[in-house]
Amino acid sequence: MTADAQERRVIVIGGGQSGLAVGYFLRRTGLDFEILDANQGPGGAWPSAWDSLHLFSPAQWSSLPGWPMPPVPGGGYPGRDHVAAYLAAYEERYRLPVRRPVRVETVERAENRLLARTNAGKWTALAVVSATGGASRPFVPDYPGVEGFRGRQLHSCSYRSPQDFAGQRVLVVGGGNSGAQILAELSHVAEVTWVTPEAPTFLPDDVDGRVLFERATERVRAQQEGRDPGPPKGGLGDIVMVPPVREARDRGALRSVRPFLRFEPDGVVWRDRSRSPVDAVIWCTGFRPALVHLAPLGVLEPDGCVAVQDGRSVREPRLWLVGYGDWTGLASATLAGVTRAARSAVQEIQDALADAPTVTAT
Ligand SMILES: Cc1cc2nc3c(=O)[nH]c(=O)nc-3n(C[C@H](O)[C@H](O)[C@H](O)COP(=O)(O)OP(=O)(O)OC[C@H]3O[C@@H](n4cnc5c(N)ncnc54)[C@H](O)[C@@H]3O)c2cc1C
Repeated sequence: MTADAQERRVIVIGGGQSGLAVGYFLRRTGLDFEILDANQGPGGAWPSAWDSLHLFSPAQWSSLPGWPMPPVPGGGYPGRDHVAAYLAAYEERYRLPVRRPVRVETVERAENRLLARTNAGKWTALAVVSATGGASRPFVPDYPGVEGFRGRQLHSCSYRSPQDFAGQRVLVVGGGNSGAQILAELSHVAEVTWVTPEAPTFLPDDVDGRVLFERATERVRAQQEGRDPGPPKGGLGDIVMVPPVREARDRGALRSVRPFLRFEPDGVVWRDRSRSPVDAVIWCTGFRPALVHLAPLGVLEPDGCVAVQDGRSVREPRLWLVGYGDWTGLASATLAGVTRAARSAVQEIQDALADAPTVTAT
Protein backbone atom coordinates (compact mmCIF):
# COMPACT_ATOMS: atom_id res chain seq x y z
CA MET A 1 0.00 0.00 0.00
CA THR A 2 2.86 2.40 0.75
CA ALA A 3 5.59 1.01 -1.50
CA ASP A 4 5.19 3.77 -4.05
CA ALA A 5 4.79 6.53 -1.45
CA GLN A 6 7.30 9.28 -0.76
CA GLU A 7 8.56 8.98 2.79
CA ARG A 8 9.08 11.99 5.05
CA ARG A 9 9.37 12.26 8.79
CA VAL A 10 6.81 15.02 8.84
CA ILE A 11 4.32 16.37 6.34
CA VAL A 12 2.41 19.60 6.72
CA ILE A 13 -0.90 19.86 4.87
CA GLY A 14 -1.52 23.45 3.79
CA GLY A 15 0.97 26.17 2.85
CA GLY A 16 -0.82 29.32 4.07
CA GLN A 17 0.40 31.38 7.03
CA SER A 18 -0.14 28.48 9.46
CA GLY A 19 1.71 25.89 7.37
CA LEU A 20 4.61 28.31 6.83
CA ALA A 21 4.91 29.05 10.56
CA VAL A 22 5.09 25.31 11.24
CA GLY A 23 7.65 24.99 8.42
CA TYR A 24 9.81 27.70 9.99
CA PHE A 25 10.15 25.74 13.23
CA LEU A 26 10.51 22.38 11.49
CA ARG A 27 13.37 23.79 9.43
CA ARG A 28 15.23 24.57 12.63
CA THR A 29 14.87 21.01 13.94
CA GLY A 30 16.62 19.46 10.96
CA LEU A 31 13.75 16.99 10.54
CA ASP A 32 13.01 15.90 6.99
CA PHE A 33 9.66 17.43 6.06
CA GLU A 34 7.53 18.68 3.20
CA ILE A 35 4.59 21.09 2.96
CA LEU A 36 1.82 19.97 0.58
CA ASP A 37 -0.35 22.85 -0.60
CA ALA A 38 -3.39 22.68 -2.87
CA ASN A 39 -3.05 26.24 -4.18
CA GLN A 40 -1.33 27.11 -7.46
CA GLY A 41 0.80 29.80 -5.79
CA PRO A 42 1.87 31.04 -2.35
CA GLY A 43 -0.16 33.08 0.18
CA GLY A 44 -2.90 30.68 1.29
CA ALA A 45 -6.27 32.43 1.38
CA TRP A 46 -4.87 35.94 1.01
CA PRO A 47 -4.47 36.31 -2.80
CA SER A 48 -8.14 35.46 -3.32
CA ALA A 49 -9.49 37.91 -0.70
CA TRP A 50 -11.45 40.96 -1.86
CA ASP A 51 -9.53 43.87 -3.41
CA SER A 52 -9.73 46.31 -0.49
CA LEU A 53 -9.24 43.83 2.39
CA HIS A 54 -6.96 45.24 5.08
CA LEU A 55 -5.62 43.63 8.22
CA PHE A 56 -6.87 45.04 11.46
CA SER A 57 -3.41 44.97 13.04
CA PRO A 58 -0.36 47.03 12.10
CA ALA A 59 2.41 45.26 10.12
CA GLN A 60 4.71 44.85 13.13
CA TRP A 61 1.88 42.97 14.86
CA SER A 62 1.18 40.70 11.91
CA SER A 63 4.45 38.84 11.60
CA LEU A 64 5.26 35.18 11.32
CA PRO A 65 8.19 33.83 13.36
CA GLY A 66 11.67 35.02 12.50
CA TRP A 67 11.02 37.81 10.04
CA PRO A 68 8.85 40.88 10.78
CA MET A 69 6.36 41.89 8.13
CA PRO A 70 7.82 44.94 6.34
CA PRO A 71 5.98 48.19 7.15
CA VAL A 72 3.44 49.45 4.64
CA PRO A 73 4.98 52.19 2.49
CA GLY A 74 3.25 55.43 3.51
CA GLY A 75 1.78 53.85 6.69
CA GLY A 76 -1.61 52.30 7.45
CA TYR A 77 -2.72 48.72 7.93
CA PRO A 78 -1.37 46.10 5.49
CA GLY A 79 -3.63 45.30 2.56
CA ARG A 80 -4.28 41.97 0.86
CA ASP A 81 -1.42 42.25 -1.64
CA HIS A 82 1.06 43.34 1.03
CA VAL A 83 0.26 40.25 3.13
CA ALA A 84 0.33 37.93 0.12
CA ALA A 85 3.73 39.32 -0.99
CA TYR A 86 5.08 38.88 2.55
CA LEU A 87 4.00 35.24 2.68
CA ALA A 88 5.53 34.55 -0.74
CA ALA A 89 8.81 36.19 0.31
CA TYR A 90 8.71 34.36 3.65
CA GLU A 91 8.70 30.89 2.16
CA GLU A 92 11.53 31.88 -0.21
CA ARG A 93 13.55 33.42 2.57
CA TYR A 94 13.48 30.25 4.66
CA ARG A 95 13.60 27.96 1.60
CA LEU A 96 10.56 26.11 2.87
CA PRO A 97 9.92 22.90 0.91
CA VAL A 98 6.40 23.63 -0.34
CA ARG A 99 5.05 21.33 -3.05
CA ARG A 100 2.23 22.81 -5.22
CA PRO A 101 -0.35 22.17 -6.32
CA VAL A 102 -0.86 19.05 -4.21
CA ARG A 103 -4.28 18.46 -2.68
CA VAL A 104 -4.38 15.88 0.11
CA GLU A 105 -7.56 13.88 -0.40
CA THR A 106 -7.29 11.57 2.61
CA VAL A 107 -5.04 10.73 5.53
CA GLU A 108 -5.18 7.20 6.86
CA ARG A 109 -3.18 4.86 9.09
CA ALA A 110 -0.56 2.65 7.46
CA GLU A 111 1.36 0.53 9.98
CA ASN A 112 3.40 2.87 12.15
CA ARG A 113 3.01 5.81 9.76
CA LEU A 114 0.26 8.02 8.38
CA LEU A 115 -0.44 7.85 4.66
CA ALA A 116 -1.60 10.89 2.71
CA ARG A 117 -3.24 10.20 -0.63
CA THR A 118 -3.13 13.23 -2.90
CA ASN A 119 -3.95 14.22 -6.48
CA ALA A 120 -0.20 13.98 -7.13
CA GLY A 121 0.75 10.70 -5.49
CA LYS A 122 1.17 9.31 -1.98
CA TRP A 123 3.23 10.46 0.97
CA THR A 124 3.84 8.73 4.30
CA ALA A 125 5.08 10.36 7.47
CA LEU A 126 5.62 9.68 11.14
CA ALA A 127 3.84 12.92 12.01
CA VAL A 128 1.28 14.99 10.12
CA VAL A 129 0.35 18.61 10.75
CA SER A 130 -2.95 19.73 9.29
CA ALA A 131 -2.97 23.49 8.55
CA THR A 132 -5.66 23.79 5.92
CA GLY A 133 -7.55 26.81 7.30
CA GLY A 134 -11.19 27.27 6.37
CA ALA A 135 -11.22 29.24 3.13
CA SER A 136 -12.20 26.17 1.13
CA ARG A 137 -15.24 25.62 3.38
CA PRO A 138 -17.32 28.80 3.34
CA PHE A 139 -20.34 28.55 5.60
CA VAL A 140 -23.79 29.70 4.44
CA PRO A 141 -26.75 29.44 6.85
CA ASP A 142 -29.92 27.78 5.72
CA TYR A 143 -32.87 30.13 5.09
CA PRO A 144 -36.30 28.89 3.95
CA GLY A 145 -37.03 29.51 0.28
CA VAL A 146 -33.41 30.06 -0.68
CA GLU A 147 -33.60 27.50 -3.50
CA GLY A 148 -36.25 29.58 -5.27
CA PHE A 149 -34.41 32.92 -4.92
CA ARG A 150 -33.55 34.24 -8.39
CA GLY A 151 -31.06 36.93 -7.34
CA ARG A 152 -27.32 36.52 -7.14
CA GLN A 153 -25.74 34.89 -4.07
CA LEU A 154 -22.10 34.77 -3.15
CA HIS A 155 -19.98 34.20 -0.08
CA SER A 156 -17.50 36.87 1.05
CA CYS A 157 -14.70 34.60 -0.20
CA SER A 158 -15.94 35.18 -3.77
CA TYR A 159 -16.58 38.93 -3.35
CA ARG A 160 -14.06 41.17 -5.12
CA SER A 161 -15.19 44.77 -5.46
CA PRO A 162 -18.24 47.02 -4.90
CA GLN A 163 -18.42 48.01 -8.57
CA ASP A 164 -19.92 44.59 -9.38
CA PHE A 165 -23.04 45.69 -7.43
CA ALA A 166 -23.38 49.35 -8.46
CA GLY A 167 -27.02 50.49 -8.29
CA GLN A 168 -28.29 47.15 -6.93
CA ARG A 169 -30.30 46.24 -3.81
CA VAL A 170 -27.97 44.08 -1.77
CA LEU A 171 -28.26 42.20 1.52
CA VAL A 172 -25.00 41.81 3.43
CA VAL A 173 -25.55 38.99 5.95
CA GLY A 174 -23.18 38.59 8.90
CA GLY A 175 -22.07 40.74 11.82
CA GLY A 176 -18.30 40.24 11.87
CA ASN A 177 -15.41 42.12 10.34
CA SER A 178 -16.04 40.85 6.81
CA GLY A 179 -19.65 42.02 6.91
CA ALA A 180 -18.70 45.43 8.29
CA GLN A 181 -15.89 46.00 5.80
CA ILE A 182 -17.91 44.91 2.77
CA LEU A 183 -20.95 46.90 3.89
CA ALA A 184 -18.76 49.98 4.36
CA GLU A 185 -17.53 50.08 0.78
CA LEU A 186 -20.67 48.72 -0.87
CA SER A 187 -22.85 51.39 0.72
CA HIS A 188 -21.13 54.01 -1.48
CA VAL A 189 -22.53 52.49 -4.68
CA ALA A 190 -25.45 50.20 -3.77
CA GLU A 191 -28.60 50.16 -1.65
CA VAL A 192 -27.41 47.89 1.14
CA THR A 193 -29.23 46.29 4.07
CA TRP A 194 -27.00 44.80 6.74
CA VAL A 195 -28.54 41.68 8.34
CA THR A 196 -27.05 40.44 11.61
CA PRO A 197 -28.50 37.98 14.16
CA GLU A 198 -27.83 40.49 16.96
CA ALA A 199 -26.62 44.05 17.10
CA PRO A 200 -22.92 43.85 16.17
CA THR A 201 -20.27 44.67 18.77
CA PHE A 202 -18.10 47.59 17.72
CA LEU A 203 -14.78 48.09 19.43
CA PRO A 204 -13.69 51.56 20.52
CA ASP A 205 -11.91 53.49 17.76
CA ASP A 206 -8.52 53.17 19.44
CA VAL A 207 -8.69 49.35 19.81
CA ASP A 208 -7.21 47.34 16.97
CA GLY A 209 -6.07 43.76 16.47
CA ARG A 210 -2.87 44.37 18.40
CA VAL A 211 -4.76 45.42 21.54
CA LEU A 212 -7.16 42.49 21.19
CA PHE A 213 -4.27 40.10 20.95
CA GLU A 214 -2.60 41.60 24.03
CA ARG A 215 -5.84 41.32 26.00
CA ALA A 216 -6.39 37.70 24.99
CA THR A 217 -2.80 36.86 25.91
CA GLU A 218 -3.22 38.47 29.31
CA ARG A 219 -6.40 36.44 29.93
CA VAL A 220 -4.61 33.18 29.20
CA ARG A 221 -1.73 34.21 31.44
CA ALA A 222 -4.16 35.03 34.26
CA GLN A 223 -5.89 31.65 33.85
CA GLN A 224 -2.55 29.83 33.87
CA GLU A 225 -1.50 31.65 37.04
CA GLY A 226 -4.83 30.96 38.75
CA ARG A 227 -5.87 34.64 38.76
CA ASP A 228 -9.39 35.79 37.86
CA PRO A 229 -9.14 37.11 34.29
CA GLY A 230 -12.31 39.21 34.77
CA PRO A 231 -14.95 39.65 32.11
CA PRO A 232 -13.65 39.65 28.52
CA LYS A 233 -13.27 43.21 27.17
CA GLY A 234 -13.81 42.34 23.51
CA GLY A 235 -13.61 39.16 21.48
CA LEU A 236 -11.35 38.58 18.51
CA GLY A 237 -14.54 38.54 16.38
CA ASP A 238 -15.73 42.00 17.44
CA ILE A 239 -15.65 44.68 14.79
CA VAL A 240 -12.47 46.68 14.55
CA MET A 241 -13.12 50.26 13.45
CA VAL A 242 -10.67 50.38 10.56
CA PRO A 243 -10.85 53.71 8.67
CA PRO A 244 -13.45 52.69 6.01
CA VAL A 245 -15.75 51.23 8.71
CA ARG A 246 -15.37 54.37 10.81
CA GLU A 247 -16.18 56.49 7.78
CA ALA A 248 -19.32 54.41 7.12
CA ARG A 249 -20.42 54.87 10.72
CA ASP A 250 -19.89 58.64 10.52
CA ARG A 251 -22.08 58.75 7.42
CA GLY A 252 -24.81 56.73 9.19
CA ALA A 253 -24.37 53.64 6.99
CA LEU A 254 -23.50 51.13 9.74
CA ARG A 255 -27.07 50.33 10.75
CA SER A 256 -28.07 46.68 10.98
CA VAL A 257 -31.41 44.83 11.09
CA ARG A 258 -32.32 41.41 12.46
CA PRO A 259 -32.73 38.46 10.09
CA PHE A 260 -35.59 38.03 7.64
CA LEU A 261 -38.01 35.11 7.77
CA ARG A 262 -37.57 33.64 4.32
CA PHE A 263 -36.60 34.18 0.73
CA GLU A 264 -39.03 34.73 -2.12
CA PRO A 265 -38.05 34.52 -5.80
CA ASP A 266 -37.33 38.29 -5.99
CA GLY A 267 -36.50 39.21 -2.42
CA VAL A 268 -37.12 38.50 1.25
CA VAL A 269 -39.98 38.57 3.78
CA TRP A 270 -39.20 40.22 7.14
CA ARG A 271 -40.55 39.20 10.54
CA ASP A 272 -43.23 41.92 10.42
CA ARG A 273 -44.35 40.33 7.07
CA SER A 274 -43.12 43.28 5.04
CA ARG A 275 -41.23 42.46 1.83
CA SER A 276 -38.10 43.84 0.18
CA PRO A 277 -36.92 43.24 -3.37
CA VAL A 278 -33.31 42.00 -3.42
CA ASP A 279 -30.87 41.73 -6.35
CA ALA A 280 -27.99 40.09 -4.51
CA VAL A 281 -27.02 38.53 -1.17
CA ILE A 282 -23.45 38.51 0.11
CA TRP A 283 -22.95 35.91 2.84
CA CYS A 284 -20.34 37.16 5.30
CA THR A 285 -21.03 34.21 7.53
CA GLY A 286 -17.59 32.76 8.06
CA PHE A 287 -15.97 29.43 7.43
CA ARG A 288 -15.75 25.96 8.90
CA PRO A 289 -12.45 24.13 9.36
CA ALA A 290 -11.43 22.29 6.17
CA LEU A 291 -10.80 18.87 7.72
CA VAL A 292 -12.57 16.38 5.47
CA HIS A 293 -9.23 14.83 4.47
CA LEU A 294 -8.93 13.58 8.07
CA ALA A 295 -12.22 11.64 8.02
CA PRO A 296 -10.61 8.20 7.44
CA LEU A 297 -8.73 8.59 10.73
CA GLY A 298 -12.03 8.72 12.62
CA VAL A 299 -10.98 11.90 14.41
CA LEU A 300 -13.78 14.22 13.28
CA GLU A 301 -16.23 15.06 16.05
CA PRO A 302 -19.93 15.81 15.41
CA ASP A 303 -19.15 19.56 15.38
CA GLY A 304 -16.68 19.03 12.51
CA CYS A 305 -13.63 19.75 14.67
CA VAL A 306 -11.01 17.36 16.09
CA ALA A 307 -10.57 16.76 19.82
CA VAL A 308 -7.12 18.13 20.66
CA GLN A 309 -4.86 18.55 23.64
CA ASP A 310 -2.55 21.50 22.97
CA GLY A 311 -3.13 21.09 19.25
CA ARG A 312 -2.43 17.34 19.19
CA SER A 313 -5.22 14.98 18.26
CA VAL A 314 -6.47 13.02 21.23
CA ARG A 315 -7.53 10.08 19.03
CA GLU A 316 -4.50 10.03 16.71
CA PRO A 317 -1.24 10.98 18.46
CA ARG A 318 0.66 11.34 15.15
CA LEU A 319 -1.61 14.21 14.11
CA TRP A 320 -1.39 17.92 15.03
CA LEU A 321 -3.72 20.76 14.00
CA VAL A 322 -2.59 24.36 13.68
CA GLY A 323 -4.33 27.62 12.79
CA TYR A 324 -8.05 26.79 12.87
CA GLY A 325 -9.10 29.02 15.75
CA ASP A 326 -8.86 29.25 19.50
CA TRP A 327 -9.55 25.51 19.84
CA THR A 328 -6.13 24.88 18.23
CA GLY A 329 -4.39 27.60 20.26
CA LEU A 330 -5.28 31.09 21.35
CA ALA A 331 -5.61 33.39 18.30
CA SER A 332 -3.90 30.72 16.20
CA ALA A 333 -5.95 31.74 13.14
CA THR A 334 -4.10 35.06 13.04
CA LEU A 335 -0.65 35.96 11.79
CA ALA A 336 0.45 37.17 15.21
CA GLY A 337 -1.07 34.26 17.09
CA VAL A 338 0.02 31.29 14.99
CA THR A 339 3.66 31.42 16.12
CA ARG A 340 2.88 30.09 19.57
CA ALA A 341 0.78 27.19 18.24
CA ALA A 342 3.33 26.30 15.55
CA ARG A 343 6.27 26.37 17.95
CA SER A 344 4.48 24.17 20.45
CA ALA A 345 3.39 21.63 17.80
CA VAL A 346 6.91 21.34 16.42
CA GLN A 347 8.41 20.98 19.88
CA GLU A 348 6.04 18.08 20.57
CA ILE A 349 6.77 16.50 17.19
CA GLN A 350 10.48 16.72 17.83
CA ASP A 351 10.05 15.03 21.21
CA ALA A 352 7.76 12.37 19.75
CA LEU A 353 10.16 11.53 16.92
CA ALA A 354 13.32 11.62 19.00
CA ASP A 355 13.52 7.83 19.07
CA ALA A 356 12.01 7.12 15.66
CA PRO A 357 14.35 5.53 13.09
CA THR A 358 15.60 7.87 10.37
CA VAL A 359 14.33 7.38 6.81
CA THR A 360 15.91 8.48 3.59
CA ALA A 361 13.96 11.04 1.60
CA THR A 362 12.82 9.81 -1.80
C1 LIG B 1 -12.01 40.84 7.15
C2 LIG B 1 -10.88 39.96 7.60
C3 LIG B 1 -9.81 40.53 8.25
C4 LIG B 1 -8.77 39.71 8.71
N1 LIG B 1 -7.76 40.33 9.36
C5 LIG B 1 -6.77 39.59 9.86
C6 LIG B 1 -5.70 40.21 10.60
O1 LIG B 1 -5.68 41.42 10.84
N2 LIG B 1 -4.71 39.43 11.05
C7 LIG B 1 -4.70 38.08 10.81
O2 LIG B 1 -3.78 37.43 11.23
N3 LIG B 1 -5.69 37.46 10.14
C8 LIG B 1 -6.73 38.16 9.67
N4 LIG B 1 -7.73 37.53 9.01
C9 LIG B 1 -7.76 36.02 9.00
C10 LIG B 1 -6.95 35.33 7.91
O3 LIG B 1 -7.41 35.69 6.65
C11 LIG B 1 -7.07 33.77 8.00
O4 LIG B 1 -7.25 33.43 9.32
C12 LIG B 1 -5.80 33.06 7.47
O5 LIG B 1 -5.78 33.14 6.06
C13 LIG B 1 -5.70 31.60 7.92
O6 LIG B 1 -4.44 31.07 7.50
P1 LIG B 1 -4.22 29.52 7.32
O7 LIG B 1 -2.84 29.31 6.83
O8 LIG B 1 -4.62 28.80 8.55
O9 LIG B 1 -5.28 29.12 6.21
P2 LIG B 1 -5.33 29.57 4.68
O10 LIG B 1 -4.76 30.93 4.48
O11 LIG B 1 -6.72 29.32 4.23
O12 LIG B 1 -4.33 28.53 3.98
C14 LIG B 1 -4.63 27.15 3.93
C15 LIG B 1 -3.87 26.53 2.79
O13 LIG B 1 -4.12 25.15 2.86
C16 LIG B 1 -4.38 24.67 1.55
N5 LIG B 1 -5.23 23.48 1.65
C17 LIG B 1 -6.52 23.40 2.07
N6 LIG B 1 -6.96 22.12 2.03
C18 LIG B 1 -5.91 21.38 1.58
C19 LIG B 1 -5.71 20.00 1.31
N7 LIG B 1 -6.67 19.09 1.53
N8 LIG B 1 -4.52 19.59 0.83
C20 LIG B 1 -3.52 20.46 0.63
N9 LIG B 1 -3.65 21.80 0.87
C21 LIG B 1 -4.82 22.24 1.34
C22 LIG B 1 -5.05 25.80 0.81
O14 LIG B 1 -4.86 25.63 -0.57
C23 LIG B 1 -4.30 27.01 1.41
O15 LIG B 1 -3.17 27.35 0.64
C24 LIG B 1 -8.77 38.30 8.52
C25 LIG B 1 -9.83 37.74 7.80
C26 LIG B 1 -10.88 38.56 7.38
C27 LIG B 1 -12.02 37.90 6.64
